[in-house]
Amino acid sequence: MKLSHKLTILASFAMALMAVSPSAAQSYRLPGQHTQQHGDLIAGQHHSNMEVDNTTKYLEALFAEEEEPEFDIYTEGWESGFVNCYKNATVPQTAVIDVTKFCMPHPGYVTSPYGYRKRFRRMHKGIDLKANIGDTVRAAFDGKVRLTKYERRGYGYYVVVRHTNDLETVYGHLSKFLVEPDQYVRAGDPIALAGNTGRSFGSHLHFETRYMGYAINPAAIFDFANQTTHTDYYTFDKNTYQHARNFSPEANAAYAAQYRATHKVEYGNTKSTAASNSRSKGASTVVVRKGDSLSRIASRNGTSVAAICRLNGIKSSTKIRPGQKLRVR
Ligand SMILES: [Zn+2]
Repeated sequence: MKLSHKLTILASFAMALMAVSPSAAQSYRLPGQHTQQHGDLIAGQHHSNMEVDNTTKYLEALFAEEEEPEFDIYTEGWESGFVNCYKNATVPQTAVIDVTKFCMPHPGYVTSPYGYRKRFRRMHKGIDLKANIGDTVRAAFDGKVRLTKYERRGYGYYVVVRHTNDLETVYGHLSKFLVEPDQYVRAGDPIALAGNTGRSFGSHLHFETRYMGYAINPAAIFDFANQTTHTDYYTFDKNTYQHARNFSPEANAAYAAQYRATHKVEYGNTKSTAASNSRSKGASTVVVRKGDSLSRIASRNGTSVAAICRLNGIKSSTKIRPGQKLRVR
């Protein structure tokens, strides 16, 4: 195909995108397994009354929070002329981003959400996904690798990919690169192996989605509990992009339990923390707390609902009550 021809197609594609109004573009796709709760969650996507407090408290109880001084790679220690151009570029007020052709970067559940971390008084500009050292990390969309770098006190080994849909994705704490800068990648191509490098306690994948330097909540685009995207088109809005905290702890806890039941999940590794040790070597019997569900207990104790049911001779549908004792291992 001639270049001019390609450009014409690109231009008409861009025009088509611009013609789509944000509201028309946001036709929500609800896969069969989506729950009512998830539907409610999507309905609330545009509201900025964040319920991040509950989410944060809940996750802090579930997971050992780690400090990740994520250097803003777009302003600090940055040599690339490409990125500097963002500094002077005019970022549009809104933009409709095509996320139809995607791949989940890793199937792991969310161990730490995007958003303000009270304890460290700073923003967590991405999302952390459970991953073992050596797990394959995949490109989220088609694009070209812009960077493979090492940041000792932050991201560790990390990859930045610029995508054809204008997003950029960042993958941090890797153990090995499988791509080089300037290499073209397709959504789903292996780009690296997960690890525990940089400022990381326990192996995981730190994943960011950025639009012209603006770090969007990856959970506003990806539905990690259902391993899909929320919509075919994500509407970026400069005023509210940080407010899209459509993160569902309940759905994630259920997905985490399911993930642990079907994957070998490593807790302790070279840089394990006291918290992760206590999680893997916790008590064998727990007392049901108010508001507990089997999936919540399973998630809190690093086991599955099925395993708890087996140990206690109950069904997943069995009603549990506060004060009741349950064996978890
Ligand atoms: Zn992170």
